[in-house]
Amino acid sequence: MLQITCPWCGPREEIEFRNGGEGVAIPAQATDAEWARVLYYRSNPAGAYAERWVHVHGCRQWFHVVRDTLTHEITHTSPLDVPPPGTPPVGQPSTGQPSTGQPSTLQPTSLQPSTGATPLGSPPAAL
Ligand SMILES: [Zn+2]
Repeated sequence: MLQITCPWCGPREEIEFRNGGEGVAIPAQATDAEWARVLYYRSNPAGAYAERWVHVHGCRQWFHVVRDTLTHEITHTSPLDVPPPGTPPVGQPSTGQPSTGQPSTLQPTSLQPSTGATPLGSPPAAL
């Protein structure tokens, strides 16, 4: 059984956690091909593998884990805002910059309402 160190709770048994799969970076803007890579492609290495885990029977926080897929040794855990060292984000172009050369049909959703739109949950205009 794995011993996983939650960044908030400390070392705990594996049964308190759930694996969330490979830790992929979500690009702000991407082409369809880049989105497909983010959604469907996984690196599946034999060695160090950056994953996301959640402490479901503890603090319920998501965090990064770097686990060796051959030995299951966990070499790193950190909160999601601290990227694991030496692990390039999956789904990013090789240049490290988002591509702007091709149009994309997928646009990132914005939490800000567009001009003239009524935000959800706002009261209706007075009659
Ligand atoms: Zn925890």
